[in-house]
Amino acid sequence: MTASQAGQLFVVATPIGNLNDFSQRAIDTLKIVDLIAAEDTRHSKLLLQHFGITTPLQSLHEHNEQQRSELLLQRLLAGESIALISDAGTPLISDPGYRLVSLVKSQAIQVVPVPGSCALISALSVSGVASDRFSFEGFLPPKSAARRQQLSQLKNDQHTLIFYESPRRLLDTLKDCAEIFGPERRGCLARELTKIHETIETRPLSELLEWVAGDANQQRGECVLLIEGASDAVTADEQEMQRVLSLLLPELPVKKAAAIAAGITGGSKNEAYQLALKLQQK
Ligand code: SAM
Repeated sequence: MTASQAGQLFVVATPIGNLNDFSQRAIDTLKIVDLIAAEDTRHSKLLLQHFGITTPLQSLHEHNEQQRSELLLQRLLAGESIALISDAGTPLISDPGYRLVSLVKSQAIQVVPVPGSCALISALSVSGVASDRFSFEGFLPPKSAARRQQLSQLKNDQHTLIFYESPRRLLDTLKDCAEIFGPERRGCLARELTKIHETIETRPLSELLEWVAGDANQQRGECVLLIEGASDAVTADEQEMQRVLSLLLPELPVKKAAAIAAGITGGSKNEAYQLALKLQQK
């Protein structure tokens, strides 16, 4: 069988809360395909029943994706059509499906998007934080040291940063953000989007932290955290670090130059290193 006789793989978004956000095209697609690959079949069964969708389901989650993708590929090659859904929102966005899509495309089989809800895009569209350039960073590491290191690496990025975060870690993450990005930098907490307790709050990080710390309800439910990008104004400290690095870099390896520059200016070694890498690329 050639790819032209093969079926199609539809990547279908499901609601992130409000069931009215399920598009008619998504419902129609899920009704006509031969099989639906779902992250958690028990969870999806309830949604599908609600919309009268009786298509057979098969699980595809992070632990069986590799092996399941091969089987799904065989079915596509045999001419069947398959839809991929996740527990909520758009598959592949902090959800399984990348391996399947990549494998299916490698066989020149058509992959068709059926777009809809996505928590990060919904949050960005209402945050009031710049939306022209942004990077989606997924979930931060759960352990504090790794999380802080990742945030430090993002500190000077000038585009909006978007994170998914568990409500259990929200307060700790906000504390780290206020410390690393500075209390004045604005953040937006977008919680329980499209649901009854939807909350979208944009404030300087110190205020956002205080507000969340003082209200246990803000530490519940699903949330997206957005952080405004760094301003492009270079601070006096950064200017000094740049000056010292530009003297040291022609003479020393990057790591050594960064360590000495950090010692001289009293700045962080990691920031000195990141800046040294940037200066070297110029
Ligand atoms: N694929 C989904 C999407 O398109 O957004 C995301 C899946 S990811 C495993 C789940 C995370 O998305 C949650 O922990 C939360 O950070 C975010 N999320 C999902 N639904 C949300 C909602 N209704 N409000 C706020 N954040 C949400």
